[in-house]
Amino acid sequence: MATDPWMKFDLSTPLDTDYLSAFSSVTSADREHWTRARQFAEEVFPVINEHWDKAHYPVELVRRMGELDLLTDGLDIAGHAKFSPLAAGLVTMEISRADGSMAAAAAVQGGLVLRSLKLFATPEQQEQYLEPVATGKLLGGFALTEPHHGSDSVSLETSARKDGEEWVLNGNKKWIGNGAAGGITIVWARDETDGQIKGFIVDQQTHGYEATPVQGKGVLRAIEQAEIRLHEVRVPGTALLANATSFKDVSKALVETRVNVGWSALGHALFLFEAALQYAKEREQFGKRLGAHQIVQSLLAQMLSELTNMQLQCVAVAAEQAAGNLRPAQASLLKYHNTRAARRVAATARDMLGGNGILLENHVIRHVGDIEALHTYEGTETIQALILGRDLTGFSAFG
Ligand SMILES: Cc1cc2nc3c(=O)[nH]c(=O)nc-3n(C[C@H](O)[C@H](O)[C@H](O)COP(=O)(O)OP(=O)(O)OC[C@H]3O[C@@H](n4cnc5c(N)ncnc54)[C@H](O)[C@@H]3O)c2cc1C
Repeated sequence: MATDPWMKFDLSTPLDTDYLSAFSSVTSADREHWTRARQFAEEVFPVINEHWDKAHYPVELVRRMGELDLLTDGLDIAGHAKFSPLAAGLVTMEISRADGSMAAAAAVQGGLVLRSLKLFATPEQQEQYLEPVATGKLLGGFALTEPHHGSDSVSLETSARKDGEEWVLNGNKKWIGNGAAGGITIVWARDETDGQIKGFIVDQQTHGYEATPVQGKGVLRAIEQAEIRLHEVRVPGTALLANATSFKDVSKALVETRVNVGWSALGHALFLFEAALQYAKEREQFGKRLGAHQIVQSLLAQMLSELTNMQLQCVAVAAEQAAGNLRPAQASLLKYHNTRAARRVAATARDMLGGNGILLENHVIRHVGDIEALHTYEGTETIQALILGRDLTGFSAFG
């Protein structure tokens, strides 16, 4: 066949694979949110690889998500669109189908920062911050993790000392999305007086707040995570998130964002499955299309099976959320299942594209890498397993 030997593949066309009609009952209102996210995804595909290649954080794309009202992660924010949990999940899926860095930016901005403000901030703080954060005009970071405390962030060492009407913060944070973006950071610190974890809204321009982007990342290269040094950072008493009084409160925010990660994993897997399928129909080896070889068909069936299970878990968890019944262990199950399944789909898709699978232009290798970040953040696979193990047996195996 006389085809162009240098032909490029177009693998980013959405096929909307939904084999068991998991999304058949999506309402027209929810579908409208999904459509806006699809519009954003279509704007992202043509430009994202260049940013990724240069390890550049395209803040304008985060603001674009704000313009499209895609940054609220299902939270009820006055003046913004109302999302069902299913719609919020579909938006996350769709953004992730395009790119993990943008999905991570939305997860930090809406999932962590806006959620912390909604759950724990005073009415005055909400008045000041909800709108600029929801629109992406003010970028926010959520600083829990420290260089010495990741999975055991409950043991964090950053301290908060009351000094008259002010608080003084000291310590180090690592991996903080938007931590060096020039906006605000919600810093979680241990109150020296009662030993409890408390949250503070810190303006990133405050004296003593030093943040530098983590260098040399091989994944999520189109978003910055910061290392933050806090040296005698003085904030007013009004910076305290008054309604967060212990680590249990931090955990409340993390449960919801684990669901978000489950949907993100689905978005990556959806892209990878559909890219592999489209490639298998185009590429020829041994005189026929890859998709006509039995082993390739078997691999496609495996991927479809993984993808469908991921979709069904997402929909089931969204129903629990909508009914107000979601238990933390259920969020862990979703994150555990979907990040593991997405890694398997990623490995197969990458294999099916041969050498083309490692070329950025085909988007596959970017998704393969980005899934590795999902595997680790918001609690690693192992931490989710330990949460499930504790729920099943009643024994905590964390220590
Ligand atoms: C791209 C990216 C973005 C992030 N964004 C943010 C952010 O915005 N804000 C924030 O606060 N944090 C953020 N994080 C931090 C993230 O939450 C942590 O990386 C994560 O909690 C794991 O911590 P760690 O990397 O220190 O790994 P560790 O906790 O050191 O874990 C290393 C390994 O040990 C295993 N392990 C740990 N404890 C146990 C145990 N009890 N039993 C068996 N195995 C165990 C883990 O599963 C893992 O395999 C981000 C991380 C990444 C990579």
